[in-house]
Amino acid sequence: MGILWGILIVLFLNGLIFPLFNPRRITATDYGTFISYVDSGRVKEVMIKNGQIYFSAADADGKAATYQTGEIDDPGLVGRLLAAESPNESGKIVFTRIVPQENSPILNFILMWVLPGLIFYMLWRQASRSIQARMGSGGNFLSFGSSGAKIYADSDVKTTFADVAGQDEAKEALTEIVDFLHSPSKYAEIGASLPKGALLVGPPGTGKTLIARAVAGEAKVPFFAMSGSEFVQMFVGMGAAKVRDLFKQAGEKAPCIIFIDEIDAIGKRRDTAIGGNDEREQTLNQLLTEMDGFDGRKGVVILAATNRPESLDKALLRPGRFDRRIQMELPDLEGRKAILKVHLAKVKHESVDLSIVAQATAGSSGAELANIVNEAALRAVRQGRRKVTTADLEESVETVMAGAQKKNKVLSGEEKRIVAYHEIGHALVAAMQTASAPVHKITIIPRTSGALGYTMQVDEGEQVLLSRENLFNRIATLTGGRSAEELVFGSITTGASNDIEQATKLARAMVTRFGMSEKYDMMGLETVNNAYLGGDNALTCSSETAAEIDNEVLRIVREAHEKARGILSEHRALLDEAAAFLLERETITGEEFMRIVRKYESVG
Ligand code: ADP
Ligand code: MG
Ligand code: ZN
Repeated sequence: MGILWGILIVLFLNGLIFPLFNPRRITATDYGTFISYVDSGRVKEVMIKNGQIYFSAADADGKAATYQTGEIDDPGLVGRLLAAESPNESGKIVFTRIVPQENSPILNFILMWVLPGLIFYMLWRQASRSIQARMGSGGNFLSFGSSGAKIYADSDVKTTFADVAGQDEAKEALTEIVDFLHSPSKYAEIGASLPKGALLVGPPGTGKTLIARAVAGEAKVPFFAMSGSEFVQMFVGMGAAKVRDLFKQAGEKAPCIIFIDEIDAIGKRRDTAIGGNDEREQTLNQLLTEMDGFDGRKGVVILAATNRPESLDKALLRPGRFDRRIQMELPDLEGRKAILKVHLAKVKHESVDLSIVAQATAGSSGAELANIVNEAALRAVRQGRRKVTTADLEESVETVMAGAQKKNKVLSGEEKRIVAYHEIGHALVAAMQTASAPVHKITIIPRTSGALGYTMQVDEGEQVLLSRENLFNRIATLTGGRSAEELVFGSITTGASNDIEQATKLARAMVTRFGMSEKYDMMGLETVNNAYLGGDNALTCSSETAAEIDNEVLRIVREAHEKARGILSEHRALLDEAAAFLLERETITGEEFMRIVRKYESVG
């Protein structure tokens, strides 16, 4: 670049140099004066250059001066100059014409054609590079079919199946893929081609990303990982270019694994109704094309993960693409124990009883369990200990589920009494019913989540099937808090809002999804979308039925509420004693609570 500018500047300057040299001493004059100077024999020297005549002549007083005049087409000039006299020693005028130097044809060609082209190319390169840098996307502006992005393969993945606890079915399904990546030739010999792609499906935090890495680690092959959202670019066509690049680079490194995390970002069903997202659809089309295009026997396996499988385009799921579907479910009791063990191995601990923690964390994902272990380790450090104990883990379970303890007292004495009765109400209703989980802990220490206290019930085993009685008893337990308030204080508070929400949800599910109402028998009245992401329900019935459902839900909740009130008024003395005990201790264990219960039972 520097050299080019240098040439340009010299070119421009050349034209300027001559007139710049001695502009003052040249006097402009007309052609007639020039001729009269010649004829009068006063001209010494004449030089013609660039259509200008420069001449020096002696003045009347003998001094020499330089003049300039325009050249005129005058054929007689040479004869006139030759014939004229001059003050020169030779008596003749010295005259000459300076012919401007012509560049060589090659130089001319370079200057006129090559140089401008080169300059424009460089300017364009510069511009597109700076635009790219500003976009920060790694994509190439005005791309010629390539994203220009270097996709880095992790060729030394350390994660193995040992890091993934539980999920045995998923591991089993993936073992075949690992074997295939180890020795693709074994499969090629028979003529078998393995599934090109496997789709990992499950709720967030169940280890989908983790297990994909583990496959690469087990097979010891390069791991190309990209998130679906990385393909969705600002400019149409760039995502597609990125897909192309990814597959090209992966093909060069085969055997290897391509992992597309959160594939729903590009794999969403294409809809024809309203103009879709062009960029996303092009990217998806490119992905489909690439998956068809590459040779399944070469040893490239594509893994993808999503927690919204129902939103994926059908074309992605057909044989030859992601035809294998690997389900990653929330861990069961044994799974939770195993996951806790894996993560506990990373921190120092002593005599930890995992079964209690595993029981208390029903419904938690692997990620949440990992978080619980880490919170426990933090708590141990905070308290200046060197090892994690069971108490740390139990406390961190509660922290993760209900928020941290609020240390500064915000409750007045009366409020505290209400909360104590409320919680004992829950616990007592639970204890007096068969088939409800035993009470594990009751506390009236407020939590940052807003809970003023809570009753923790822990199932010993894993309950997969819930009977109608189970669900009804659960609703009764949820109404137990409010029932105690009514019974003891004759007034009600806002403290039951969460209970109300949960009880209503349960009762509604009984009617609309579990076929547990007499009125609607086994009719499905609701569908669940997005099951892995909390699930939003959509009614599938007429509006009259919807109103009827509300009545039915109300009937169930009311019945449960009455049952709870009945239980509590029957055991009023027990309620009082337990509440007083809780008020004094603030936190009591399930065992302490049951001791009071048993005392009354043996009497009554
Ligand atoms: P997903 O991709 O399914 O949302 P991740 O694979 O990102 O979940 O999991 C997040 C973290 O949770 C992991 O890094 C790991 O620490 C922990 N985890 C999840 N499942 C497991 C498991 N089965 N075994 C061990 N750790 C797990
Ligand atoms: Mg993930
Ligand atoms: Zn409550």
